[in-house]
Amino acid sequence: MPQKAEVFSFVCNCCGKEHVGIPAYGYDMPVDYFDIPVMDRGKRAVLGTDTCVIDRERYYIKGILDIPIVGYDEPITWGLWAKVTEADYAQYRKLLGLDGSAFQATGKIDVTMPGYNELDKAGQTYALRCDLVGQPVGLRPRILLHPVSHRLFVDCSQGVSPERASELIALMPH
Ligand SMILES: [Zn+2]
Repeated sequence: MPQKAEVFSFVCNCCGKEHVGIPAYGYDMPVDYFDIPVMDRGKRAVLGTDTCVIDRERYYIKGILDIPIVGYDEPITWGLWAKVTEADYAQYRKLLGLDGSAFQATGKIDVTMPGYNELDKAGQTYALRCDLVGQPVGLRPRILLHPVSHRLFVDCSQGVSPERASELIALMPH
């Protein structure tokens, strides 16, 4: 068994500082939100910390996606939005603030994550299929990607090297 390092740290090639620990980052809104002209957002979108509805016909839930780092206990944690059906959205809203363990839905990722979309559209994380798995009270649902030949799925299922983790973290807004 390789010994696990206690704390992940690296010198960031983005800001030049040493980062100790693994930062978490969450998107404040689904990327579809930015398709709405700024002046119309207040009218067309209802945006909260955990849920979003656009045009009363597109429904989004915020969940948590972990990317494990090989050799470390703590993963990189992303707060991501997923587009879900109206029925799943309604069910989730009912459970907000309660134990959500029974909640389960399928959705599509509704963010474009740095480190995945540089090359071409097929490399983007947008619209990747996922499951949302409800959690006990106070915790956002877990996001589990459906198996697909995409770098994000490979990273989530196999974990990333510390070197790639450093690259990904440097690309997180911070
Ligand atoms: Zn940095």
